[in-house]
Amino acid sequence: MTQTTDFLSHLNSSQRRAVEHYCGPLLVVAGAGSGKTRALTYRIANLILKHKVAPENILAVTFTNKAAREMKERIEKLFAQQLALSKHGQRLELLPAEEQVQLRSRVYKTYIKPLWIGTFHSLFSRILRFDINKYQDDKGHQWKRSFSIFDESDAQSLVKNIVTKQLNLDDKKFNPRSMRYAISNAKNQGLTPNDIEKNQPDYKGRVLSQVYSSYQDQLAANNALDFDDLILIPVRLFQQNESVLGYWHQQFQHILVDEYQDTNRIQYDLIRLLVTNGETRKSEWNWQNRSVFVVGDADQSIYSFRMADYTILLEFQEDFGDGLPDDDTRTMVKLEENYRSRENILQAANYLIENNTQRIDKVLKATRGIGEQIYCHKADDEVAEAHFVVNQIRKMEEQNPEIDWGSFAILYRTNAQSRPFEDALRGKVPYIIVGGLKFYDRKEIKDALAYLRAIANPDDTVSLLRIINTPRRGIGQATIDNLVGAAQQLGVPLWEILSDKTSVATLAGRSAKGVNSFADLITRWQEQVENFSAAEIVKGIMEESGYVQDLQKQGTDEAENRLENVSELYNAVLQFQEENEDTSLGGFLANASLASDLDDLKDGQKAVSLMTLHSAKGLEFPVIFLVGLEQGLFPNFRSMDDPAALEEERRLCYVGITRAQEQLYLSHARERRLYGNREPAVRSQFLGEIPKELISSTLVKVKASSEPLTSAIEPKQQTTKRSTKQSADWKVGELLIHDSFGTGEVTHVFGSGSKISIAVKFPGVGQKILDPKRTILQRVK
Ligand code: ATP
Ligand code: MG
Repeated sequence: MTQTTDFLSHLNSSQRRAVEHYCGPLLVVAGAGSGKTRALTYRIANLILKHKVAPENILAVTFTNKAAREMKERIEKLFAQQLALSKHGQRLELLPAEEQVQLRSRVYKTYIKPLWIGTFHSLFSRILRFDINKYQDDKGHQWKRSFSIFDESDAQSLVKNIVTKQLNLDDKKFNPRSMRYAISNAKNQGLTPNDIEKNQPDYKGRVLSQVYSSYQDQLAANNALDFDDLILIPVRLFQQNESVLGYWHQQFQHILVDEYQDTNRIQYDLIRLLVTNGETRKSEWNWQNRSVFVVGDADQSIYSFRMADYTILLEFQEDFGDGLPDDDTRTMVKLEENYRSRENILQAANYLIENNTQRIDKVLKATRGIGEQIYCHKADDEVAEAHFVVNQIRKMEEQNPEIDWGSFAILYRTNAQSRPFEDALRGKVPYIIVGGLKFYDRKEIKDALAYLRAIANPDDTVSLLRIINTPRRGIGQATIDNLVGAAQQLGVPLWEILSDKTSVATLAGRSAKGVNSFADLITRWQEQVENFSAAEIVKGIMEESGYVQDLQKQGTDEAENRLENVSELYNAVLQFQEENEDTSLGGFLANASLASDLDDLKDGQKAVSLMTLHSAKGLEFPVIFLVGLEQGLFPNFRSMDDPAALEEERRLCYVGITRAQEQLYLSHARERRLYGNREPAVRSQFLGEIPKELISSTLVKVKASSEPLTSAIEPKQQTTKRSTKQSADWKVGELLIHDSFGTGEVTHVFGSGSKISIAVKFPGVGQKILDPKRTILQRVK
């Protein structure tokens, strides 16, 4: 591939410095929308193109799976373009369609597929698929490489079962939900059941430790891990086994982390182990052909409830870097220009966040012109608030031909706030709830996945129990209890009992026939797992198990809907196989259990997005509605008398405001029904922290703006260069610069007013007809 690195011209000089830095540690700190994620993406491209780093030696941690996909797509495009130029001397889009496809698929295979880009969870679950069999915990538990990943609801039911059935505790006093939360927190701090008992030697601490310990036994017995284990076990494994650590240290020569401010201690330990190979003496570190590159913004740290700790970011310079003052350091870069938001929006965010005491001051300059005032709306109640927002969205969509439903996002503090908005949108405006009931949380999907997990990992008793009598096979609860009881007493997985006809005959009585046919079914598929693709297995098992026929027989709308979801699952498997060239059942299952809420947000989907502020991190939209700005709701009541928690709420508000590119609407209600009661509401203190001059309370008439709104999520670059009246006044003979085609001359102007298009002649490229409203064009004066 060519040495050309002209793609770096899409960066400012500080970004370029960050991207071109080759070996050693580097920290990029900067405010929202300053191009941190862009710098990280370009850095990966530069490592491969310029420094010839093999893609498989790069590990990049993103905050969501969706972000990982976007990053890969971006890099793929960059590479395809470079290759088109070097091999064919032509830009990619000018090559015949067939060659474009071939070239992209070559780029994908050679450069993109081998990259390790993903969330902490997906990356390290992959590593565990290789090496978990070399790990043993302090109680001697071991796992096989075919482990299942239990999701939150699986984990909850395990804990509930332990509290109420195994330990016979009062679940009012020992709420299973809070116990589960406490276990998760313990794992995120690297604490074992023993540590818990030591730290908290009272009765409550002892019970927690006991529940935690049984929970671990159960996970191990099911050959299963929960989400937290996907991070914690690699740390322990690396500490336990030098050669395993050595292998991965050797593999990952360049490590990059986005959103570093939301890293927790265990994730940090992982990064540190991989970077240093477990060597604690800084002087002994060898940075040759090696780097660690992290980007983040302490003002956007919003996951302390999951033990995220932004002091990890603040300590990077001491930890890995040269520790020199800002003016002299070579291991830190600051970015100070914001490319996302209009100045009014940015100023509001900057003023707001200055009210936090726990922060480092930083500069964030607007580059995109002042924009319209922020509009603040006071509604009578939550229903009126929703109507205001939806009406406003409809008006704007109608009056601005350039924008579509995908340009809008409604952000709120808690999931429950979505309901009135859904009611107001339903049937009128397409919308998508990001992080609602996930596809993979639906009953029929969980059933289908349980079949697949039971095939892939017969030790997974939780899955076996879910489907042993679904659809009905005449296996009663008493029989199931008998079988489970026997397995527990013998200390063997349930499957060993189920798959043994003699034991079944003894324990299952009249249900033996049903149990045997279930066991036969699973055994048949287990034996064939290697010979079939994941898609074939899904189809086969759902039919042979009678699941599909059962739904067909029911014939209700609900059953119909479930059937559709099952076939959607089949589509999801096919898609996974195509995207990953991995047809194995294990591959698909790992992917399905890690599909996060945000993955519901599909690219290019023309729908209004509704989501919590937490889900909005890293995203951008032309128009943002930030709703429910009331004391007790946002900031949340739990933070009202806890200064540190209040600062976190303010950071969350900062994140929300800085998602907006063009327009920001804030709203609050006079009264609100919360938890069943209608209560008067007081406007949020955060509203008072934004200077009045920036806010308007009279609605500007929505005009058909001649200035296009940019598209949702990662708009085209260089929006700053848009000329304000570009659609109206192009003249024949004018020169302009197009992002891809370069400099060209206008040869024709078609139409008039907002409906014009222009023909432009680009030397070496040819004549193109462009819609100036949809294309970024820079006028050459
Ligand atoms: P956040 O803190 O919200 O994660 P960020 O710092 O990661 O933001 P990006 O998402 O990388 O910022 O960039 C914000 C927007 O600015 C994106 O639309 C990006 O394409 C654009 N952008 C970044 N750098 C430049 C640049 N040098 N010139 C023009 N546009 C840029
Ligand atoms: Mg970012």
